[in-house]
Amino acid sequence: MAHENIIEAKNLTTHFYTYEGVVKALDRVSLTIKKGITFGLVGESGCGKSVTVRSMMRIIQEPGKIEGGQVRFFPDTDAMREGVELLSKSEAWMQELRGDRISMIFQEPNAALNSIMRVGDQVAESFMFHRRRSMSKKILEDLESTKTRVFPGTRSLQKNLYAISAKSPDAPVLRLAKQVPILKHWQFRMKKEAFRRATEIIGRLGIAHPKEVAESYPHNLSGGMKQRIVIAIALACKPDLLIADEATSNLDVTVQAQILDLLKELKKTEISSILMITHDLGVVAETCDRVGVMYAGTLCEEADTQPLFKTPLHPYTQALLASVPKFHQEGELKTIDGTVPNLVHPPLGCRFHPRCPYVMEICKTQVPLLQEARPNHRVACHLYDAIS
Ligand code: SF4
Repeated sequence: MAHENIIEAKNLTTHFYTYEGVVKALDRVSLTIKKGITFGLVGESGCGKSVTVRSMMRIIQEPGKIEGGQVRFFPDTDAMREGVELLSKSEAWMQELRGDRISMIFQEPNAALNSIMRVGDQVAESFMFHRRRSMSKKILEDLESTKTRVFPGTRSLQKNLYAISAKSPDAPVLRLAKQVPILKHWQFRMKKEAFRRATEIIGRLGIAHPKEVAESYPHNLSGGMKQRIVIAIALACKPDLLIADEATSNLDVTVQAQILDLLKELKKTEISSILMITHDLGVVAETCDRVGVMYAGTLCEEADTQPLFKTPLHPYTQALLASVPKFHQEGELKTIDGTVPNLVHPPLGCRFHPRCPYVMEICKTQVPLLQEARPNHRVACHLYDAIS
């Protein structure tokens, strides 16, 4: 039977070793995302949202280091149904996983796209890397069932190469074959098939004239269209989990609404689960089923979206929601007293205690544990110690 969660992170701890000292960016963060939902991770800039997902994906760069924890991933594939522990896998294995079973969309489409490559080729690259086996199979079937033209005299050689590629896409003989000019037709057909698939997925994202768009370069496209192409790259291999890291933050409001609508639509057809990272509570309210709130490298509250917005339990979540401007608001906007702590020397005990209006003595020495204060509603705060 398939596992009910798509990913489970336990006690994830990540530090950055800087000249100023060790930045304790993540402190024992535990997060569980159920299959089929959109999970929002919210909090102020620098609270550790991106570090959490980058740690889960193992793309933390130096001077950062994952110091501890576990990340178990449960895709619906026969080989991994029981779950795999991502932190213990090799980098080569993770490269196969990223962009295939887990994909990411980043904030800035210009940085994600190569300006001198047609966007269709950039989507196709994902197929060339992750779907070599299925593409070879398809081309081989076409070759066998029709009289498809191949370079004269090399038909059986080419067929053998597709057969090898369908079985073992990393076979050394394929690397050698790429060097032989007369066999290059083999590679050309693979690229053509990948481009065909890329055009198909661009069309599935509701983009008009997908062929023309696939043949365009990034500078020919608007910001919203570029972000759609980034989404197409992420969805090319139908990932089990899509991570959107502030994916709409740099877009203007109308385009942002279009991209959010697109993600909601794709959630019904193309993607099983989404992890949405954002500082925008409006985006969370509109798109997420469940929310995790982060503060200074810790997860302080986690609940379904409605209960969290209606009855937030953690003082930080309460202050965060109170600071959102309301349409008919009169008077001054509420802010959270104090400043975000320096994570080289984070406060002892609860990291929110210097800013918390309900601080108690215990808060200054003991780290509150994330525990269930209400059904399906977890909070890390000593105010609820007696309830849980
Ligand atoms: Fe405030 Fe104490 Fe709760 Fe931290 S643990 S949020 S300081 S009451």
